[in-house]
Amino acid sequence: MAKEGSTMDETQRLTIINDYSLQSSGDDPSMNNLIESTAHFLDMPIAYVSIIGEYTQVFKARYGIHFESTDRVEAFCNQVVENDDIVLVENAEKDRLFSSNPMVIGSPFIRFYAGIPLRLQNVTIGAVCVVDTKPRTLSSEQIQSLTKLSSHISTYLDLVRQQTQSAHEHQLIEQSPAVLMTWKNFEGLNLTFASTNLTQLFGLSLEPLVQRQEIFEDYIDPNSLNEFTFLMSNHRAGVQNADAQFQIKNRHGERFWIKMISQAFFDQTGELDSVHALLIDNTMNRSVEQKLKQTNQQMRILLEASDLGTWDYDVVHDINKVNQYSCRMIGVDMELFDSSRHYWRGLIHPADRSAVESAYTQHLEGDSESLMIIYRVKHSDGHWIWFETYGKTIERDEEGHVLRVAGIHRDITEKKETELLQDKQRQLLSFINKAMSIYLQHNDLSEACRQVLPELTEIADSKFAFIAQMKKKDNRDALYIHAITELSWNEATRTLVDMYHNRALYFTSFDNLFGSVITKERMVISNQPSTHPSSKGTPKGHPKIFRFMGLPIKLGSQVVGMIGLANKIDDYTTKDSQLLQPLTDALAALYYSVDLEDARFKAEQQLKNMAMTDPLTGLSNRRAFRDYFDKLTSTGEVYVIVILDIDHFKQVNDQYGHIAGDEVLKSIAYQLSNELRTDDIIARLGGEEFAFLIKNDDQAVVTELLNHIRLTIADKVINYGQHSIHITMSMGAHFITPAQNLTMEQHIDAADHALYSAKQQGRNRVIWANDPPMTKLK
Ligand code: GH3
Ligand code: MG
Ligand code: MG
Repeated sequence: MAKEGSTMDETQRLTIINDYSLQSSGDDPSMNNLIESTAHFLDMPIAYVSIIGEYTQVFKARYGIHFESTDRVEAFCNQVVENDDIVLVENAEKDRLFSSNPMVIGSPFIRFYAGIPLRLQNVTIGAVCVVDTKPRTLSSEQIQSLTKLSSHISTYLDLVRQQTQSAHEHQLIEQSPAVLMTWKNFEGLNLTFASTNLTQLFGLSLEPLVQRQEIFEDYIDPNSLNEFTFLMSNHRAGVQNADAQFQIKNRHGERFWIKMISQAFFDQTGELDSVHALLIDNTMNRSVEQKLKQTNQQMRILLEASDLGTWDYDVVHDINKVNQYSCRMIGVDMELFDSSRHYWRGLIHPADRSAVESAYTQHLEGDSESLMIIYRVKHSDGHWIWFETYGKTIERDEEGHVLRVAGIHRDITEKKETELLQDKQRQLLSFINKAMSIYLQHNDLSEACRQVLPELTEIADSKFAFIAQMKKKDNRDALYIHAITELSWNEATRTLVDMYHNRALYFTSFDNLFGSVITKERMVISNQPSTHPSSKGTPKGHPKIFRFMGLPIKLGSQVVGMIGLANKIDDYTTKDSQLLQPLTDALAALYYSVDLEDARFKAEQQLKNMAMTDPLTGLSNRRAFRDYFDKLTSTGEVYVIVILDIDHFKQVNDQYGHIAGDEVLKSIAYQLSNELRTDDIIARLGGEEFAFLIKNDDQAVVTELLNHIRLTIADKVINYGQHSIHITMSMGAHFITPAQNLTMEQHIDAADHALYSAKQQGRNRVIWANDPPMTKLK
């Protein structure tokens, strides 16, 4: 008569037996006592608690039998399990099932058997039974008491199992890094249990706490006590699961961060009954976490405040992790950022690459505590950004090899550019001053330009440069090259360089890149000159011009020259032209002052000529004659001064008119100057009177010369209209020697005196003043 719902699931049954550790026989003294009492009570020679295993029946408690187990098939109790019901056998000898059972035929010669199912978790796992060796019966009350006994034994087994289990758990806990604590709620939450590892783990004494001589909360750091009390109040309010982190400090002053995971249990009314908690030492995690949190917070504040990029380079795996801002700095999408070192290296300005690499290598090799590098990095749109990168090793392997280096990037472009610009401006100003002073010193503009050209090339970061000025060459506009980077690669260009050295190099064609500066009268920048419409024009073989900037030198709106720069490492920008503006201004001023000086010099020269020249004949006038006289006679040489006067010139005027007279004067002047050597001086002193200064101390030679001139003039027919005019001249000559120490006027007087004699003696002759003979003079 199987009970409903008790359909046997053998597997489940065996699992339960296993769970309760009932598969082996065992003498439980209290259960044995109970069985023995029951046997006495019912006057039975045998009683036992049987567990029916898969093949064996084992006795968990027994009275009156000496063996511990039997085969399952022989077991009377197996029938209880199979039937899942009470089995009563009043006389086994007469029972169909048991008459041939070895325990009936042989020892212990069972006749009576009563088996009550033993149930655990509602599954019959065995039986509680009483046995007699003679046939008999049991009253229903007796059977009821046996049933109660069975149920008590179930409860007892449950308890034993629980106890074993919790003992086991406690044992585990005692060895674990977690402390188990229980608070009971009676008139407040009271700590009633704590696993003994509390002492070992947290250095707290167990006894005073569970005996309520001390309160656990007193060990909690006041700063984190809140966390603990909040957790408990949550449980009181009905929360089942909670966790909290707090710090405790023990009597030795040791501090521990504790992570507490707790569960609350409630009674039927919903009142909090108890709180069970696991407390784990979280100090390590906590301090790392705390540090991280702190650092992160500081970092975040820093990052937000100052726009910092971060980087974290895994040396071994070549992975450079950067933050969003780092990517933004170089204009690259975070998703597209290539984390390899090679990629980053490729972004670095070629001029800075080796410095960055060597600083990095030095750091890896342990030569530097930290990295601090300033260099240029290419933005995705092509411009350069100044980076200030700070880094430090943050992880090493056991042998000390660097595993990770991390740090921050800062964009210092603005600062750096201002700095560089200021440096360059300073450099430029000093260099302009230098140019000015060279010019003032030597009064030589080309020289000034040549001396500062190397500095200009350096300031402008360029490979080539020239400074030119607009001039006229063969009446055409041309650029005169004051200074140029000297380049020659063949015969033709060597000629150009020679011309340059001889200060005769001109660019005459403007149909090219630099010429466009002149023709367009404005700055020209070309960073791909090969594609620039005016890119032709460099002589054959000239190194390739891949970047060019031409700056006009302007005076007001007029272009007076230009500066040409080529092959900067980076693109030329308006910033370069702004930088060089003071130079072009200075050159404009220099060109202007040179032009002004030239013009002034010419004007002066003209004025001077006007003052020194006789306008009619173009000969020197009396004033010029005086200058020559002073200059020449101061040399200490012997000269002859000759005064020449046209004979009867009044008659020429009278006869042919004043204009004819002028023509005659011009003709005579021309003939006289033709007859003289170039280093002799001739002048028109006034009217029809001329003068010579002849460097010679030989009276005979001079006399011969003067007579030759006199005769030439006399022989010459001057044609004026239809008139043929004949002219003769009289001459008075006189030696000038340094010893005489006379003024020019005195010398002229002396010569005049001789001239007067010539007129007196009939004109057309040469008369010497009454000088001592030259032999005496010497
Ligand atoms: P002599 O042989 O004594 O020198 O007689 P002369 O007529 O040459 O001398 P005189 O001093 O009497 O006359 C000089 C004349 O020269 C007077 C003047 O008309 C003339 N004369 C002076 N300067 C110029 C001039 O620039 N142009 C012209 N056409 N005549 C001039
Ligand atoms: Mg005269
Ligand atoms: Mg005369």
